[in-house]
Amino acid sequence: MSFQAPKGTFDWLPPKSERILAVREALVAPARQAGYGYIETPTFEDTELFARGVGESTDIVSKEMYTFPDKAGRSLTLRPEGTAPVVRAVLQHGLHNGQLPVKLWYSGSQYRYERAQKGRYRHFWQVGAEALGAEDPALDAELIVLAAGGFAGLGLKKVTLLLNTLGDKVCRPVYRAALQEFLRGLDLDETTRQRIEINPLRVLDDKRPEVQAQLEGVPLVVDHLCAACKAYHEDVRALLSATGVAFTDDPRLVRGLDYYTRTTFEFVHGGLGSQSAVGGGGRYDGLSEMLGGPALPSVGWALGADRTFLAMEAEGLLEDAAASRVQVYGVALGDDARRRMFLLVDEVRRAGISADMSFGGKGLKGAMKGADRSGARFALILGERDLAAQAVQLKDLTTAEQTEVPLARVVDVLKGKCSDPHA
Ligand code: ATP
Ligand code: MG
Repeated sequence: MSFQAPKGTFDWLPPKSERILAVREALVAPARQAGYGYIETPTFEDTELFARGVGESTDIVSKEMYTFPDKAGRSLTLRPEGTAPVVRAVLQHGLHNGQLPVKLWYSGSQYRYERAQKGRYRHFWQVGAEALGAEDPALDAELIVLAAGGFAGLGLKKVTLLLNTLGDKVCRPVYRAALQEFLRGLDLDETTRQRIEINPLRVLDDKRPEVQAQLEGVPLVVDHLCAACKAYHEDVRALLSATGVAFTDDPRLVRGLDYYTRTTFEFVHGGLGSQSAVGGGGRYDGLSEMLGGPALPSVGWALGADRTFLAMEAEGLLEDAAASRVQVYGVALGDDARRRMFLLVDEVRRAGISADMSFGGKGLKGAMKGADRSGARFALILGERDLAAQAVQLKDLTTAEQTEVPLARVVDVLKGKCSDPHA
């Protein structure tokens, strides 16, 4: 073997690749049903967009970006996340000058130079939804309900929702100062000490046990919220409760950036070990301004399709994966029959029935093996003698029952059989 996929990447191959397509689609189905429109942005952007829109002090920008100069010397970066590109596109095209909120969804690959392991890849897939230009607890609640609906629609039972608020321009600075004061008194390494000064909220997110152990008694945002933020958060919680979406208050859940405000949430799955987050999101009221736009209070989420797939595996939801590739499989013996079968298979497909046929001049045995492997319910067998009689043998591969059908009628016969689940 001469080449391998780059470290931290992998290929999706049939039949699993079909399932991942369905997973991505199901995750955003509730958002589409709620009127979110599809947006597609380039897989690379100006590096500066992410430096500002994700933040210099984050792991993503400081060490995980795939950044390269193009031939004209521009610095470009493979997108590590979808929110900054969406906001860039909204501002560029003036979508925010129309009806607000602007509601959009996306689905695409993301690139981060991370320590590769199960559930953590350098090339992975996120679906996302964003609602831009409205500050309304019902909008936060709507997005959370839609994400929860995406997981539920896949049959996942072990997804938990963690919820927190980060305060706003008024109360966050006061909290930030209190947090910094507490953190400065801890025994931490130099890098973490620097983080206290630049981005103290991120220290709460440090997963190392020696750091977590010292966070007993750390000041919490909930205890520092201004009246407006408190009321907003209570509203979100009440709306979620009213719709029956279960959540756990997690007062230490953060997003590390100053323009993330108020509602923040994460979906975690119990069966995934340390890579347990299957999705996350929150309100980012300051991001548009960071990118040179007007004030555009917004909220959104991104769900990890690959981890969701692993979660489904962990819950045994993918076991009936031996799904059939096609419904009908053509087996032709001899050159004339092969040419006729080519037309017949085309006709079957045009009738809305999925079909494949044997290629490569195989004999009956080899071709029938292909029919079995395709998972088809019916085989169409065409020999020289059938051709002379303008007929074809229709074999039900589950019962081995075989009947002769005139070529002129076979598509109609198949239409009847393939639409009747009891046939
Ligand atoms: P984590 O804490 O696990 O690194 P994150 O906070 O970096 O996650 P987000 O940037 O919020 O994740 O992305 C949303 C979702 O995308 C995550 O919940 C996860 O399901 C998925 N995701 C993030 N990074 C990766 C990755 N490297 N490989 C696979 N999925 C990922
Ligand atoms: Mg990460």
